[in-house]
Amino acid sequence: MSLSSAESQTPHRILRSYAPVFTTSRYGKPVIQMGRYRFNKSGNTGWKTHWYCVKACMKCKAKIVTKDDEIIEINALHNHQ
Ligand SMILES: [Zn+2]
Repeated sequence: MSLSSAESQTPHRILRSYAPVFTTSRYGKPVIQMGRYRFNKSGNTGWKTHWYCVKACMKCKAKIVTKDDEIIEINALHNHQ
């Protein structure tokens, strides 16, 4: 697998410190809980699934991309605590 340097370094460092947990919200929607952050499932783009931080409405750009329930890309740059 050949990822760009930014993509290949960040996810693995993050994955070691915060284990992402696939769960459901109280409304029954699929979410990923990662540390104190939570990501809402957005939809599928081809074979990838995009998950956006619940604070995306606050212009938070953090997101996760998964394939078959496996995380392949993470942007963990939250603009909030
Ligand atoms: Zn966020």
